[in-house]
Amino acid sequence: MVTALVTILVTVFGLVAGWLSAHLVHSYVEEADTEIAVRVDPTCSHCEASIALGDTAPPRWWLRRTMCPLCNHRLAWTWIAVQLAVPVGSLAMLAAWGPNLVLIPFLWLVPVLVVAAVVDARLMLIPRRVAWIGAGVGAALIAVVSVIGGEPGAIKSALVGGAAYFGFLFVMSMISPRAMGFGDVRFSLILGLYLGWISVLLPAVGLFVACILGVVLGLGVRIGSRGQQRHFPFGPGLALGTLIVIAFHEPILSRLIVT
Ligand SMILES: [Zn+2]
Repeated sequence: MVTALVTILVTVFGLVAGWLSAHLVHSYVEEADTEIAVRVDPTCSHCEASIALGDTAPPRWWLRRTMCPLCNHRLAWTWIAVQLAVPVGSLAMLAAWGPNLVLIPFLWLVPVLVVAAVVDARLMLIPRRVAWIGAGVGAALIAVVSVIGGEPGAIKSALVGGAAYFGFLFVMSMISPRAMGFGDVRFSLILGLYLGWISVLLPAVGLFVACILGVVLGLGVRIGSRGQQRHFPFGPGLALGTLIVIAFHEPILSRLIVT
């Protein structure tokens, strides 16, 4: 009964967060030659009409076959992808943690990861605010839930994880600024915080999975663009790697600790 109720709540949360996230993702554009993302009204890529928040509200927008309200062409696939990725990711977190207080910080993490990954895929940069506000609110939620749950020691583990992941990517970006932008370094703070909160062993696993995914996604982009696109963003691999490791933290940790 509790599980069913929480499943409904998490689904509704995911749909609303996904709706808002899709709007936020598509409101970012890159300011010319600055590598800084600024926010404008999102527009239809076909007719350039402004898309208001209400235009893409599910389920009404889904019944309109995800079309632009003005020109009736479908909006870019990334709109619906974000709207679906957030509820799916949120339900994956529910499956990993159950109807538990610990779930709440992870429900904040999912939209942050999706927004950062998709903006990075579109613009090759991760907005500063997304990275810093994401990590700041995430750290606060982690601290509150750790204290309420009677495990204040877990806060230290989260901070160690955040510092380790951030530090490692920072060094990588110093060695090879072309391969690793500072946006990825900023973004790694929230990843390390959450992975470290579960176990100080997990940031290393998350980075390993992210690197594999980064190579696979990068090759996919290169093949898809027939070798024309040489650079690819690392953010989607980092985000997806983190979500996968969190979703499967139990089997991963039982294997790591036994061997
Ligand atoms: Zn249009």
